[in-house]
Amino acid sequence: MLLDLITRYRGVFVTLFVLPLSLLFKGYMGARNRLAFWLDSAPGKHGQKVVRVQAQVRDWKARTGGAVPMCTARPGWQAMSLKQGNYKKTHYRVRINLPDILEIDERKRTVRVEPMVTMGQITAALNPLGWTLAVVPELDALTVGGLVNGFGIESSSHKYGLFQHICEGFQIVTADGACVRCSRERNPQLFHAIPWSHGSLGFLVEAELRIVPAKKYVHLTYLPYRSKTAFLRRFAEESSKPFEQAADFIEGLMFSDDTGVLMLGNFSDQVPRGKRRNAINRFWKPWFYEHVRSFLRQGQGGEEWIPLRHYYHRHTRSFFWEMQQIIPFGNHPLFRYLLGWMSPPEISLLKLTETRKIHELYDKYHMDQDFLIPMSALESFLSFLRREVSFYPLWLCPARIFDAPLRGFVHPAPGEEMFVDVGIYGEPQVVPYHAETTTRKLEAFVRRVRGFQALYADTYQTREEFRQMFDHTLLDRERVRTGAVGAFPEPYDKVSRKARAY
Ligand SMILES: Cc1cc2nc3c(=O)[nH]c(=O)nc-3n(C[C@H](O)[C@H](O)[C@H](O)COP(=O)(O)OP(=O)(O)OC[C@H]3O[C@@H](n4cnc5c(N)ncnc54)[C@H](O)[C@@H]3O)c2cc1C
Repeated sequence: MLLDLITRYRGVFVTLFVLPLSLLFKGYMGARNRLAFWLDSAPGKHGQKVVRVQAQVRDWKARTGGAVPMCTARPGWQAMSLKQGNYKKTHYRVRINLPDILEIDERKRTVRVEPMVTMGQITAALNPLGWTLAVVPELDALTVGGLVNGFGIESSSHKYGLFQHICEGFQIVTADGACVRCSRERNPQLFHAIPWSHGSLGFLVEAELRIVPAKKYVHLTYLPYRSKTAFLRRFAEESSKPFEQAADFIEGLMFSDDTGVLMLGNFSDQVPRGKRRNAINRFWKPWFYEHVRSFLRQGQGGEEWIPLRHYYHRHTRSFFWEMQQIIPFGNHPLFRYLLGWMSPPEISLLKLTETRKIHELYDKYHMDQDFLIPMSALESFLSFLRREVSFYPLWLCPARIFDAPLRGFVHPAPGEEMFVDVGIYGEPQVVPYHAETTTRKLEAFVRRVRGFQALYADTYQTREEFRQMFDHTLLDRERVRTGAVGAFPEPYDKVSRKARAY
C-alpha cells in the first residue's frame, strides 16, 4: 500500500523526503571535501591510503586464492549508472577511500586527484584559481574513477576529445597488489588500455588531468533553427573548425526532427556594458533546456554571459530533462521560488528510494542512452531515431576521438575523428515500444556506422556484438600481462543488461 503511494505520487515523495535528505547529504560531503582540501592533509595521507588498497588486494589472494573476482566496494546506488551491477553482491569488495584533490600544478598545467573526486569538487577548487579541466563532464556527482574507467564528454570535447584524452597519467593497483604508474611515455600499453576498461585491469588510485586557463564567464550565443539540414550543416561546420578558430563550447538541442538550437560558447573575462549576465543555475530560474527552447519559440537568437560554474553545471538542476518525469511540477515558478533551493535531488538517493514498480516502469517505458556517432552518419541516425524512438529533446555534443598509435577500446575508423554524442533521455513516443528490441536496433545501427555506446547505459548487445563495437585487442593483452584475468571481471560482465539488476 505504502509502496503503491510512493510509486503513484513519486514527485510528492521526492519533494517531501528525498530533497531534504539530499540537502543534508550534499552539505556533509561538501564540508568534508572542503576541510580535507584546506587542511592540505590529503597528499600526505595518499600514500598510506594506497597501501591500504594494496593490502586488501593481497588479502583477497590469501583469503580466496583468487577464486572470486574483485570490484570496488562503492555501493551500486552511489554510482551514476541507473542500474546496479549484480556483481557487487558476489564479488570480493575492495574499499577505495580516495576522495581528495592532491595537487594543482599550474606550471605543468595538471591536477592530480584521487578517483573518488567529483566534478563538482574539481570545478569548485579550480575555477576560483583561474583554471579548469579541459573537459568537465556535466553533473556534479560524476567521479574521476568512473569517468576514466567509463567515459566522459562535454561541450569542449570537439577541441579536447573525451575525458580520457585529457588524462596525462594513471596509477593503478593491479591483481598482484603492485602499484603501477603509466602515461603516454611510461608503460603506454597500460595507459591506453585503462579508459573504458571498467576496472578490468585494476583499481585506479590516482589520475593526473590536464587543466587549461579559465575565465569568469561563458559568452553563450543561442542560434535557433527550423530546418534540420541547416542546423546540421552549421553544427558540423562549427565543430570541425581548427582548434584556434572553433568556439570553446559547442552543444545542440533538437526539440523535434526539424527544430533545434545550436549553442556556441566562448570564455569571457567580463560582461560588456549593457549586455545580459545570466546566472542560469539560481534556483528560481527556469530549467536550462526550457530556457534554450524559449529562443526557438521566440524565433530569434540571443546571447548572454553565464558565470563559468553555472555554465558547466547547466543541466544539473534538471538532469538534462529527466527531472520532468521525477518532479513533473519542478519547473513551475511556484515550486522554483518556494522549494527550488533544495534541488536537485541526489541521484544516489533517488536510486535508493526507487520502488521495484518504479524500476519496472523505467525499464519498460524509459530510455537512457548516449551513442557516439561519426559526424558523417549523424543525419541518418537522427532520421532513424525519429522512426524508432521519436523522443525529444535530444542532446547533441560534438567530440573528437583521437586516433593513437596504440589503439584502445575506442578508436575511430580512418578519416572519422569527429563524433557526436547523441543523448536520448526519456520516454520513447513510438507505439508499440519495446525496450530491448528498439535498443538492439539502435545498437546494430551504431555498430554499422562504427560508433560507440556509452556504457553507463543498458547494453543489450551479445558478447560477440559488444566485441565488434569495442576493440578488445589491447585490453585483452594487458589483462593477461598484468594478471587481471580472473581477478577482475571483463567490461561486458559488468555492463550488459543481464549483469545489471535494478
Ligand atoms: C543521469 C546521468 C547523467 C550523466 N551525465 C553525463 C554527462 O553529462 N557527461 C558525461 O560525460 N557522462 C554522463 N553520464 C555518464 C557517466 O559519464 C558515466 O556514468 C561514468 O562512468 C561516471 O559515473 P560514476 O562516476 O558514477 O562512475 P561509476 O558508475 O561508479 O563507475 C564506472 C565504471 O568505472 C569503474 N570504476 C570506478 N572507479 C574505479 C576505480 N577507482 N578503479 C577501478 N574502476 C573504477 C566502476 O567499477 C564502473 O565499472 C551520465 C550518466 C547518468 C546516469
